[in-house]
Amino acid sequence: MIHDADQQPANRDRVSFTQPDSLDYRVAVADMCEFLDVARKLVVLTGAGISTESGIPDFRGPQGVWSRVQATSHRAFLNDPEARERYWQIRNQMRPLVAAARPNDAHRALVALHARGTLAGVITQNFDGLHQEAGLPAEAVIELHGTNRQAECQTCGRRYDIDEMQARVDAGERDPRCSDCGGLLKAATILFGQRIPQRVLDAAFGLVRECDALLVVGSSLRVVPAARIPLVALQRHVPLLILNLEPTPLDARADVVLHAAAAIALPEMVAGLGAR
Ligand code: NAD
Repeated sequence: MIHDADQQPANRDRVSFTQPDSLDYRVAVADMCEFLDVARKLVVLTGAGISTESGIPDFRGPQGVWSRVQATSHRAFLNDPEARERYWQIRNQMRPLVAAARPNDAHRALVALHARGTLAGVITQNFDGLHQEAGLPAEAVIELHGTNRQAECQTCGRRYDIDEMQARVDAGERDPRCSDCGGLLKAATILFGQRIPQRVLDAAFGLVRECDALLVVGSSLRVVPAARIPLVALQRHVPLLILNLEPTPLDARADVVLHAAAAIALPEMVAGLGAR
């Protein structure tokens, strides 16, 4: 089941953004390019940071919602009608941002990488569907934390169109239920404390066990089990590249680290491939 590795917001004192016009930035982009150029089975792990420039806030980044919103746990959702009411309220607050979000240049850069034929797959912690909307085929994306583009019954697993379910909530239904079994309905995302389906975990860890390089983009690497994915790459001694605005707990063990905005740095890296 997913949980937060340390329950702490990011330590703002450790922020060390690399200015895009600096030598450090240029060297890190060139180094990452070199690793990406030779990789033939690259896997990319993405987190909320890849979508912030599409307008969806992350949890712990500089504009993160962590301090403003208490995430509902799965246990609370199942057992506490008030927690469910809060869940729908938070969803309603976030809905305009999520509805307006469109893929950004970082999502599109991954589509370009895929077109080169060297991207084995993207494992994402995001549930916003922006990788697929950018043009990645569904089979190239493993959604570790589910999707908010569908709803799911917590008892029988029946999937519903999210707009259909939202319309019921908007019409005043406070605790929507499955029309087949009466079970509780929520978006088909994984809440803290909820189990990720085993087949999804197997697919993600299987991919990283076969990869020849792992690139992390926009993840604090503090939510497990996603945070364990780079550990598999390290155990296998395949290159680990981290592109994140802020430091992560694995920076010291990565081959290249760049603290920069994904929508700027990732397209630069992909544009540089094959150029030397
Ligand atoms: P996180 O919020 O813990 O960390 C995001 C990281 O991205 C931060 O370390 C931040 O420094 C970095 N970041 C922010 N903007 C960036 C940018 N422009 N370029 C590069 N890096 C940037 O996110 P997480 O590690 O994915 O885990 C949080 C959990 O919240 C996940 O379970 C995820 O499912 C969920 N979540 C998803 C979405 C989404 O679907 N878009 C949004 C918020 C939270």
